[in-house]
Amino acid sequence: MTTLRLAIQKSGRLSDASKGLLKECGINLQNGKNKLLAPAVNFPLEILYLRDDDIPQYVEDGIADIGILGENVVAESAKNIMVKQKLGFSKCRLSLAIAKSEEFTDLSWFQSKKIATSYPQILSDYLLKNNIQCEIHKISGSVEIAPSIGLADAVCDIVSSGSTLFSNGLKEVKVIMRSEAVLVANENMSIDKQAILNQFLFRIESVNRAKSSKYIILNAPNEKVKEISNLLPGMRSPTVVSLSEPGWSAIHSVVNEQKFWEVIDQLKSKGAEGILVVPIEKMIL
Ligand code: ATP
Ligand code: ZN
Repeated sequence: MTTLRLAIQKSGRLSDASKGLLKECGINLQNGKNKLLAPAVNFPLEILYLRDDDIPQYVEDGIADIGILGENVVAESAKNIMVKQKLGFSKCRLSLAIAKSEEFTDLSWFQSKKIATSYPQILSDYLLKNNIQCEIHKISGSVEIAPSIGLADAVCDIVSSGSTLFSNGLKEVKVIMRSEAVLVANENMSIDKQAILNQFLFRIESVNRAKSSKYIILNAPNEKVKEISNLLPGMRSPTVVSLSEPGWSAIHSVVNEQKFWEVIDQLKSKGAEGILVVPIEKMIL
């Protein structure tokens, strides 16, 4: 029987979320401590644990069929692999940062400067596009200390809150790319493997769609049901059921969480009461 091989990060910032996604998709792994290859027990998938930087090469070579990693690593590796799906976690940006004390005007500040980074490929493409000549100094870890030890004038590094930069006396001055975890795939998969991948992608989409949606239940006076229903169109249309108290109904619907906050005041002003907002686990259209 055909099995799809998925490469995920062995340990690091992507590991827990990658394993969490499998769990949410109802895919259970065989427990085997320190194993590099673990089969799933209830889905034709096996998991290969790697360093994230190695995933693009393994997927390009077909040693792994698919992989989960950051878009930053996909771009840096410049391998022939396909990005199939954005996954919505491990969001970060790759930014240029300089000493807090420096005055930053525009990109020309970087002209002829020395920049330390673990992302020389992305950085040199960016500088070339913007007509800036720099010396790029490649280092693989602790990039943020480079300016303070005199190794570079600036850094190009991953930022999420900016607190690491700040505590190293740096400030972010330019975002070069935004990144999140993605699912990548080998470009020449067999039909059988593609079929398994499609099933897996279907589950991922159902899980991710559910995350941004909420199930909403509220009570409303009958004469307001129509107006309130228009605010909450739901998947097809809301469910309306009568309450045992005459003149009142309960409305059930599904809304995007963002949309819910936008319409909450209108719902209340139309007399909606007892509003419950409940998480959804899976959402199949
Ligand atoms: P490995 O040992 O596997 O090579 P690593 O040290 O290169 O790991 P991590 O620090 O675990 O990598 O980061 C993995 C990925 O998580 C990054 O490539 C990036 O996409 C994302 N990431 C990194 N830092 C953050 C952050 N602060 N917030 C959110 N996502 C991040
Ligand atoms: Zn890495």
